[in-house]
Amino acid sequence: HGRQACNLAKINGRQKIKLYNQEDISIKERRRDIYWIPIIRKAVRDNDLFLVFQPVVQLNNGDVSHYEVLVRMRGENDQIITPDQFIPVAERMGLIHAIDLWVVENAIDFLAALPSYLSRISLAINLSGSAFQYPDLLQVIRDKLELTWVDAGRLTFEITETAAVDNFERTRDMIIKIRELGCKFALDDFGAGFCSFNYLKTFPVDYVKIDGQFVRNLDHNETDQILVKSMVEIAGKLGKKTIAEFVETPAIALKLKEIGVNLGQGYAFGKPERSLLDGQQVSLAILLNSDKSLQ
Ligand code: C2E
Ligand code: MG
Ligand code: MG
Ligand code: MG
Repeated sequence: HGRQACNLAKINGRQKIKLYNQEDISIKERRRDIYWIPIIRKAVRDNDLFLVFQPVVQLNNGDVSHYEVLVRMRGENDQIITPDQFIPVAERMGLIHAIDLWVVENAIDFLAALPSYLSRISLAINLSGSAFQYPDLLQVIRDKLELTWVDAGRLTFEITETAAVDNFERTRDMIIKIRELGCKFALDDFGAGFCSFNYLKTFPVDYVKIDGQFVRNLDHNETDQILVKSMVEIAGKLGKKTIAEFVETPAIALKLKEIGVNLGQGYAFGKPERSLLDGQQVSLAILLNSDKSLQ
């Protein structure tokens, strides 16, 4: 069975990264996990989480397509804790669902609060691999959209390949139901996991997000170019749009455009910020429109 093969590959291929099985982590790691529990609980309860937004840009004309929502945690002394410090712990310790719901509700509230001239802005929200195991996810999304009058078409949910998806059938069913509301889906970190094709085959998504590892050196790495080209071809044939993450330089943006990637996201266009970047600030738009200005 596909899922079993997948889990096996994870165990064999990643002996040092044992995020998937609680029994596999060392006592030291477990102690650190336990240390984090009250901090994460408190952050969700007291709204010590906050959202930042990073633009995703159309590579053909530089327009902002939508913004990805990324969560942050306020620590002591206003220190900012990034998701790689607490999301994996939250996943292991059964706290991730509370974070997922917090992010969904707050992202929709954010859209609802935008002035009407920004009513076409849409967001991409990350969900953990286990998010779909909880039946209330659908209800929370539906209720929040109804309550706020936000159009479901303004939401895309990103599911990551590297997260452990426990139950393929249930996840797929849930994705189908959420899509029926009018929301879209993206397959995040495509190519980084062991089940890329399996995920692409199983989950109905609108976007494929090419993992940053294939993008960050794209302008001078021929292997990456070949891989990205084939991802674009596959996604295109399956009727899905491609997004490249970690677009750090104009040269990479142009290379992606040349290869035919639809959208780009990365420091070249804008870092994750507390408020939405003004369309004007995405200065690369000009570069993308005229390749000459690069010289
Ligand atoms: P992701 O969804 O693949 O998000 C992209 C990450 O790459 C973000 O890190 C972003 O800040 C970073 N990034 C963006 N552009 C560039 C670039 O040009 N260069 C480089 N080197 N990095 C770039 P961040 O915010 O630390 O998030 C890390 C991961 O944590 C995310 O990866 C996502 O899997 C997870 N995550 C973030 N927010 C949430 C959330 O609200 N819920 C859940 N369940 N997971 C989240
Ligand atoms: Mg993402
Ligand atoms: Mg990603
Ligand atoms: Mg990533």
